[in-house]
Amino acid sequence: MKSEQMRSNKAVVKVMQAKAAESSIAPLVEEIIGALGEDPKRESLVRTPDRVDKAMKFLTSGYRMDIDKILNGALYEVKYDEMVVVKDIEFFSMCEHHMLPFFGKVHVAYLPKERVIGLSKIPRIVDMFARRLQIQERMTQEIAQTIQQVVDPVGVGVICEARHFCMMMRGVEKQHSGAMTSAMLGAFRDRKETRDEFLALVNHRSE
Ligand SMILES: [Zn+2]
Repeated sequence: MKSEQMRSNKAVVKVMQAKAAESSIAPLVEEIIGALGEDPKRESLVRTPDRVDKAMKFLTSGYRMDIDKILNGALYEVKYDEMVVVKDIEFFSMCEHHMLPFFGKVHVAYLPKERVIGLSKIPRIVDMFARRLQIQERMTQEIAQTIQQVVDPVGVGVICEARHFCMMMRGVEKQHSGAMTSAMLGAFRDRKETRDEFLALVNHRSE
């Protein structure tokens, strides 16, 4: 019963996403430009609604990404039980409270149990959750939980450092403030040594 409901919810989400991908937001953007006191017919603004439509579709393309397609079978059985770390993954997202960008770096680590994931897939998982309306805390959790689900490792750690335009542009003294979030699952939550090793690797800067 429960799984059936989940399936139908998933189907509803898919239909909504398909509709969203088809319909253009250009007419709405034109309205916004007018409401802001500009003339949407001014020469260099005429094509802006179409450009915004394209840009926003790209910036929210994470909704239409599919984890199975991203992975494309890049999971490998190996006997490797040391920590795997991919750090300084750049991301760009949009805060769902103001629809303004927030951006920064994500550091991902996991301790393999029986398999590893192709390294290039990790930044793509980050993009999948960054390219949508987000809050930093949830994005950090979603990245960690997805890796936990697909790789089934002993544990996952994700740290995200970001700067938010909604803070930087609106307050005079907040231009340099950043926010840090983390999600620690499994061994990264339970074992201090594991967490410390991750933090040491993230903080180590090669000259
Ligand atoms: Zn915001």
